[in-house]
Amino acid sequence: MSTAENITPEKLPKKAKAAPPKERRQKPPVDPSVLAHRNLKDGEWWREMPAFADVDEEQFLDYIWQMRNSAYGEEKLVGLIEGVAPDDFIKDVQEGFSKVPMAVRVTPYLLSLIDWDNPWDDPIRRQFIPLASQLKPDHPMLTLDSLHEQADAPVEGLTHRYQDKALFLVMDTCPVYCRFCTRSYAIGVDTDTVEKVKLRVDPKRWEKAFDYIESRPELEDIVISGGDTYNLPYKHVKAIGERLLRMDNIRRIRFATKGLAVMPMKVLSDDKWLDAITEVLMLGRQLHKEVCIHTHFNTPNEITSISKRAMDVLFERGMTVRNQCVLQAGVNDSAETMTELTKKLSEINVQPYYVYQHDMVQGVEDLRTTVQKNIEIEKNVRGVTAGFNTACHVVDAPGGGGKRDVHSYEYYNRETGVSVYTAPSVKPGEFFLYFDPLRELSEEIQEAWQDPKKQKEMCDQAIAEAKARKGAR
Ligand SMILES: *Cc1c(COP(=O)(O)O)cnc(C)c1O
Ligand code: SF4
Repeated sequence: MSTAENITPEKLPKKAKAAPPKERRQKPPVDPSVLAHRNLKDGEWWREMPAFADVDEEQFLDYIWQMRNSAYGEEKLVGLIEGVAPDDFIKDVQEGFSKVPMAVRVTPYLLSLIDWDNPWDDPIRRQFIPLASQLKPDHPMLTLDSLHEQADAPVEGLTHRYQDKALFLVMDTCPVYCRFCTRSYAIGVDTDTVEKVKLRVDPKRWEKAFDYIESRPELEDIVISGGDTYNLPYKHVKAIGERLLRMDNIRRIRFATKGLAVMPMKVLSDDKWLDAITEVLMLGRQLHKEVCIHTHFNTPNEITSISKRAMDVLFERGMTVRNQCVLQAGVNDSAETMTELTKKLSEINVQPYYVYQHDMVQGVEDLRTTVQKNIEIEKNVRGVTAGFNTACHVVDAPGGGGKRDVHSYEYYNRETGVSVYTAPSVKPGEFFLYFDPLRELSEEIQEAWQDPKKQKEMCDQAIAEAKARKGAR
């Protein structure tokens, strides 16, 4: 063994010298479009709509004014957009109303962000206002509660699917109603086509959920959702937050609200609600437990200077806000739109968390995309910004398998549009099928889906392949 003493400098092996690169690649100057996410809509743009021409900033930033003036139902909506929307568009809206399972409710803020020169193609319009001319027949495999949230609910309004986390639906109203809502079985008022499950603001009902949560030591993480916790009176925000944080088993809670995307002014003008959620956050800090907000922006168009002001307030108070968005055809199903959304969310300190494959919801077939489309978009977006600000693309496996990475299918038949997922940590041994929208399939396959015998064959084929592939590994 050589020791340090008998190694002289001369005997040392020559140091390898890293060769300089033959050529240093310079990045070309960026195209200004790369920085588009920094341009946040500013000024009093809403005044361009006749209905809001006299509304000054103070009024527009008042959340009570926003709620009172929301377009709730057909008449109110038509009243607000008359004079700015084309006549044949209004006719299209009126026909659309009678055919959909969700009630309609849109804030003035969102209405003001719609491009009324071409409302047919506008991504915000598509999410909230149904048009008869764009509705598509449902895929025969669709159901109203495709995620089986009710089957996995030991107590009404509490879905305990995963081991350590549960979804607590505290109420059934929202500041807006989204056409694509997964919970159209419960959210909003009854419509011409659906009578809903009722989940009212009701401390007595909640008590049963609290008892259950306390009785299950494995539960550590509660999603407080709805409906939308924006509509939860501030006293209940505080009471529910404190009740959960004080349970020994609970380590993390999140409040789910789409509010930041559809009515950011609440954070700027409802001091009581803001203070209540901040107090819950502070209590969490003291108890070393995480409290955060999960929100739901779907397009860059929803992010304005008002969103930034609201997020600045939450950021100063130390609130973590993450985003869960839904991939929708004609809304955000392109790499460019998703890239801009990702960067714009990062710009206002919202962390992109999930991009969901559109659930198998009735009445919104026009909004679903293929699994393949989702995979392509993910590939293009990953790498544009920090990894921690890059969403995981998931399919919430129909039938209650939970969220699965969109790439992790066991088998995907792009011809029949059937993808098969498994969920070993949630429901071991089961197979979960997702179905691409009919309009993306060949005519022959579209016809086959109308035939119950062929439906079964296509499903069986996909499951058999999935089993064979699993076996082969
Ligand atoms: C989405 C969801 C959760 C939370 O899951 P994360 O992946 O942690 O965001 C919990 N329970 C149910 C039923 C859910 O759908
Ligand atoms: S805010 Fe959420 S719960 Fe409410 S309608 Fe929209 S998607 Fe459904």
